[in-house]
Amino acid sequence: MTEMVRKITLSRAVRIMQNLFPEEYNFYPRSWILPDEFQLFVAQVRMVKDGDPSWKPTFIVKPDSGCQGDGIYLIKDPSDIRLAGTLQSRPAVVQEYICKPLLIDKLKFDIRLYVLLKSLEPLEIYIAKDGLSRFCTEPYQEPHPRNLHHIFMHLTNYSLNIHSGNFVHSDSTSTGSKRTFSSILCRLSSKGVDIKKVWSDIISLVIKTVIALTPELRVFYQSDIPAGRPGPTCFQILGFDILLMKNLKPILLEVNANPSMRIEHEQELSPGVFENVPSLVDEEVKVAVIRDTLRLMDPFKKKRENHFPDIYMDRKHRFPPVSDRMSSLKLQLSKLSIVRSQQLGKPLASKEEPPDSDLASASAGGASPEGHLPSICLKQVFPKYAKQFNYLRLVDRMANLFIRFLGIKGTMKLGPTGFRTFIRNCKLSSGSLSMAAVDILYIDITRRWNSMTVVHQDSGLRPGSSFGPRCTPSPVAWLFLRSHGWTTTRLAGLRGAAQPLSARKPRKPRKLLWTRRCWKVPPYSGRKEPGYGLGNNGCLTAKGV
Ligand code: ADP
Repeated sequence: MTEMVRKITLSRAVRIMQNLFPEEYNFYPRSWILPDEFQLFVAQVRMVKDGDPSWKPTFIVKPDSGCQGDGIYLIKDPSDIRLAGTLQSRPAVVQEYICKPLLIDKLKFDIRLYVLLKSLEPLEIYIAKDGLSRFCTEPYQEPHPRNLHHIFMHLTNYSLNIHSGNFVHSDSTSTGSKRTFSSILCRLSSKGVDIKKVWSDIISLVIKTVIALTPELRVFYQSDIPAGRPGPTCFQILGFDILLMKNLKPILLEVNANPSMRIEHEQELSPGVFENVPSLVDEEVKVAVIRDTLRLMDPFKKKRENHFPDIYMDRKHRFPPVSDRMSSLKLQLSKLSIVRSQQLGKPLASKEEPPDSDLASASAGGASPEGHLPSICLKQVFPKYAKQFNYLRLVDRMANLFIRFLGIKGTMKLGPTGFRTFIRNCKLSSGSLSMAAVDILYIDITRRWNSMTVVHQDSGLRPGSSFGPRCTPSPVAWLFLRSHGWTTTRLAGLRGAAQPLSARKPRKPRKLLWTRRCWKVPPYSGRKEPGYGLGNNGCLTAKGV
């Protein structure tokens, strides 16, 4: 998961969806991956500037592996990118900078929202009802060459702003440099903002983002766990960083796989002397997230009382006293294992899982052992709103196909045999498309695929280890079939190239060699065989036949 939400991988995953559903995925700023797409970035910016000379964009450069604002800088022109040395060794994403964020008290802020990915198959997503708003500590001005380096003005990272003299620790959840998101919504609501709409836009952003990320996750999961067998399944608490634009449109900044669950902050008592003090706002939000996660992930609902012993309960707040809460939470966090055993393939609305209404009654103090717990903070949004979003799960369906034809378990590479089986099962091979043509098609897709990703030694459609910044997710290989017009008609178009081969008995495809100009199948011993090359129309042709 950590790898899936790295800046480059996230950008790629969202971009695939942006290509398919541009309207639905316009919540993510246009991004380019560096160094690979540097020329593309330069060319596209130049093109837009030529068309509209009044366009004065700003871009934000973020190192792929960076976090907490590390290595981030703003630029006004592609030529300002610090290419020398660092980019090659430290790939990055360059992104359109959102110049008009919503300001509160003249300050830019972002939202950290906690999302529980409870299950991949079936997909279950929960969103915390409250989140954190992290404020900059210098009044915001639109980017200008003179203020681009003002990190306290442009970057909302807590880890940076805490070092500003203007950082305000507050005992209240609605003031200071870190507040609850609900307090912001309250304030917006008092100004007449339709906060229901804000929430529904945010929920939609979260669901769409998860839909973009899950196909590849499922391929990885499936390669490890045999299908249909009970096995460990995983859950993950994700931290979504969201920026509200001036017009209240939410923009996804990034997704954190390991969001900080600290509920205390460092305070400098006297110069050089620091102390950890409880942070009310962190507690308010994070304790509830952890509590509900434990509650939801406990498949047997056993020993629930032990999670939050009664002695901890403070009647007024239905919460333990702060100091006890701190130690109790630490204890629980230390016990919190991110990987839990759970039965695979449980029906979605399993009776064991409390639906929303059950949880609500528990929080209202029903007979359930949870009756004394505070109200629910994690709300299910998927499959609850599945109907509205299922049409976006196209890549997911491609991942299903990919997984189905993977062949040997443990592999993440669709080999030539799996590809043949796929063609056969889809009945594409009946009629005009011979198996030899299928092999050629396989070689072509592999060649195109590999030229898009890292150069691999061997053949195979890969899910792309997302572990490399240049790799792309597997289902994209399937997208090739669509995006390059690989319909049955087009497949039949390969016939001409394939016919001379079809006369021969199809053999097991062999390892591909990369020559300077094309992929070649090495000749069988002692026999002259044609190579394959690219024709003028970009289609694969058989040479020497
Ligand atoms: P990191 O993982 O290092 O925190 P982020 O992507 O969260 O990186 O970016 C850090 C901060 O930069 C964000 O919290 C936000 O304030 C600002 N930021 C990031 N991307 C954009 C953007 N496209 N437009 C405006 N501000 C941004």
